[in-house]
Amino acid sequence: MAQTHKQQSVPKQLQTAEELFEATFNQAAIAMSIVNLDGSWERVNEVYPKMLGYTRAELLTKTFLDITHPDDRAGDVEIGKKLLAGSIKSYTREKRYLRKDGSVLWGIITATGVYDAKGKLLYVVATVQDITERKQYETDLTYQKALFQAQNDATPDAILVVSPEGKMLYYNQSFIDIWHMPQKIIDSKDDKAALKHAMSQVVDPEAFIKRVEYLYQYPDEISHEEMTLKDGRVVERYGVPVRGTDDSYFGWTWYFRDITRRKQAEAELKQQSELTKIITDNATTGLLIMDDQQRCTFMNPAAEEITGFTFEEVLASDKPLHDIVHHKRPDGSTYPMMECPIDRALPTQNQTKGEDVFVKPDGSMYPVAFTASPIVRGSKPIGTVIELRDTTHEKAVEREIKQLNRDLEERVDVRTQELTAANKELARSNVELQDFAYVASHDLQEPLRKIAAFSNLLETDYKDVLPKEAHRYIHGLQKSSARMRTLISDLLTYSRVTTQAQPFEVVDLNVIIKDVVEDLQVRIDDTNAEVHVDELCTLEGDPLQLRLLLQNFISNALKYSREGVPPVIYVTGKQTKEHCTVGVQDNGIGFNEAYVDKIFTIFQRLHGRNEYEGTGIGLAICKKIVDRHNGSIKVISTEGKGSTFTVTLPKKQPVQVLPSQGDVV
Ligand code: ADP
Repeated sequence: MAQTHKQQSVPKQLQTAEELFEATFNQAAIAMSIVNLDGSWERVNEVYPKMLGYTRAELLTKTFLDITHPDDRAGDVEIGKKLLAGSIKSYTREKRYLRKDGSVLWGIITATGVYDAKGKLLYVVATVQDITERKQYETDLTYQKALFQAQNDATPDAILVVSPEGKMLYYNQSFIDIWHMPQKIIDSKDDKAALKHAMSQVVDPEAFIKRVEYLYQYPDEISHEEMTLKDGRVVERYGVPVRGTDDSYFGWTWYFRDITRRKQAEAELKQQSELTKIITDNATTGLLIMDDQQRCTFMNPAAEEITGFTFEEVLASDKPLHDIVHHKRPDGSTYPMMECPIDRALPTQNQTKGEDVFVKPDGSMYPVAFTASPIVRGSKPIGTVIELRDTTHEKAVEREIKQLNRDLEERVDVRTQELTAANKELARSNVELQDFAYVASHDLQEPLRKIAAFSNLLETDYKDVLPKEAHRYIHGLQKSSARMRTLISDLLTYSRVTTQAQPFEVVDLNVIIKDVVEDLQVRIDDTNAEVHVDELCTLEGDPLQLRLLLQNFISNALKYSREGVPPVIYVTGKQTKEHCTVGVQDNGIGFNEAYVDKIFTIFQRLHGRNEYEGTGIGLAICKKIVDRHNGSIKVISTEGKGSTFTVTLPKKQPVQVLPSQGDVV
């Protein structure tokens, strides 16, 4: 019965199994299919088309390969062949499918071959699980890992992650570089070994390790220290615990950064700002800085001293600097900031300089000199530097100097007036003197002539009566009166240079010199002299005086000749546009140049009267003539060789006011 029952129940069981399979197949949460050897579907469950976005009917028109991503088709064909050949009975692989909308679906397929008794593959049963999401997650994770690695490799910061068990979980290249970590330690991943290696390099290993041990023990803290290495580097260490999202403790992350250069720069900056402070503190010029709102952001002590405001007061008032120290004009009226050159420096981006008047806290005003220089970073105007000088003292000194100058000018004026009066007086007495000299010499001529006439009469009329001795006296008398005549005549000539001056006219010196040479011809012949005359120029002058001038020079040149050496005289002429120069050069006895000034003084002679006749008036006359013609006289001379007298006269004379000649001619 039981057997019967069993036999009878088989089909029922089978049917039940079939139904069971059907139910399982269709209701499975994952896609299931039975695929024929040609790739067509024997059966697909409901999940399958849904998974790919098809209806069952649509999917059934496609083959297994149709829904496979082109890049994975070859792999499917390959593995299918193995199933067919029976070398494998099943496989699991990840592959890509194409959804109806063209998007990619990652699936994990488990395929099992169903074979007949002879081992012939009948069909393949496959389940496919959609793993697109997991794949995406994996891709993201890989990307994030790569990014993390790239970032860590790119950063100069050294990174080390240590597990709670003391295993180095992660480190980057900078960690190896900064600590010169040997490969052996890196490979061992032993944090203790790494710590030991690092300790050997720091100046204070005790502090270094103590802190690490403490932090490992109390992983809630964050650490941030600086340490100096034996090689001089300064390293900054930053340590943070690594915690999961659920706050579980994963280990410890250390960051190390070489801050040697930053430290140096900081030290330099500190030094520089100290230096700047010393300079600004000790500067006697007031230095102020304004921001772009014209508010004061810096004042040195000199600026506080000058303005009378402390920097704190200026800051506290929170007003533009102008409103604090510069709000009034010298006349007391309001000074709008817009018109202030100091405040204009920034908007115009031009340095401004000038003098102005500032206001003290007590309202009093004081003069200042300022320079306002805009500070521009890039093209952005950010502030103004003001240099300030209190010019109260300078102004006082300036005023004093001006007053002194005025006083001086007044005194000069008074003195000039005095001098002018004295000059007038001098000129008047000079004229008087000259008149006197003229009158005296003129009037002396008469008695002199009489003395000469009487002594002549005495000699002729009493020739035989007078003793021999008396004749010698008379002769002496005659000689003296003759010399006196010459003296008086020369003196008259001297005073006539001014008293009987003739108006200037155009004079040709060539004509004058010709006359002079002719006049002196007898003496020239007597002395066997040679006179060479250059071409001379024409100028404005008094012809009689110019004639006298040249005559004196040439007669002196003839007179002061050397014994036995006939005089050779050169009269040279030179001219410029405005001047005329005449030189008279001789080969005579010459004189010591130390006495140059002496020879132009009246009655001054360098040679005795016994040697050379003369009155010592000739060159004084020359000097007077040259002075009257606004010219100059120069002489060079060598004793025993000769002299050269050079006269330079202007070609044109200013309009002359001739002195009154009075009635004494
Ligand atoms: P004087 O010839 O009547 O003595 P000057 O006034 O002409 O007076 O000359 C003044 C002095 O200058 C002369 O006594 C002489 O000593 C010196 N002197 C002038 N001309 C010459 C010359 N050409 N050579 C040397 N000495 C001269």
